[in-house]
Amino acid sequence: MIERYIRDVPDFPKPGILFKDITPLLANAEGLKATIDALRDCVSPDDYDVICGVESRGFIFGTALALSVGKGFIPIRKPGKLPWKTASESYELEYGTDTIEIHTDAIEHGSRMLMVDDLLATGGTMEAAIKLVRKIGAEPVASLFVIELDFLEGRKRLDVPTHSLLHVG
Ligand code: 5GP
Repeated sequence: MIERYIRDVPDFPKPGILFKDITPLLANAEGLKATIDALRDCVSPDDYDVICGVESRGFIFGTALALSVGKGFIPIRKPGKLPWKTASESYELEYGTDTIEIHTDAIEHGSRMLMVDDLLATGGTMEAAIKLVRKIGAEPVASLFVIELDFLEGRKRLDVPTHSLLHVG
């Protein structure tokens, strides 16, 4: 059901990459609802206090899920976007490094965080996000994705239970 609304875009953002475009899924009311309902069923809301989403597509699914289960949402952003005091974590890309940031006072110490993003590829982004929330004293309890590229084995880098709605490859 969800799968049919994911569009494969060859050679985006660069040659050789087959990009999984989730915008048709967002545009379809039924598909979007089915996605959020399925995400909600992966981890019991009793097991986490807050949802944390990674910029930018993690904001969409993370916020919708937060609303659906009655929890708050905390954004992890690209550098320089958050206005208050931040903690940061850098991670390796294929070429160079990237950095993500979170507000240092975003959560109460010991809060249990459900980590959400649209897609798990190499796992570098989510691995850094998990380290980042631990840095500010929170406890990541699980990571949750709409799509996982199984052939890249990104979940091996994540030391929390990991759930994905769609598996590719
Ligand atoms: P990773 O760090 O696991 O290699 O890459 C995951 C991050 O890159 C996620 O934040 C995700 O949004 C983005 N990403 C990488 N490839 C794709 C793709 O094919 N489709 C979408 N929608 N996002 C991707």
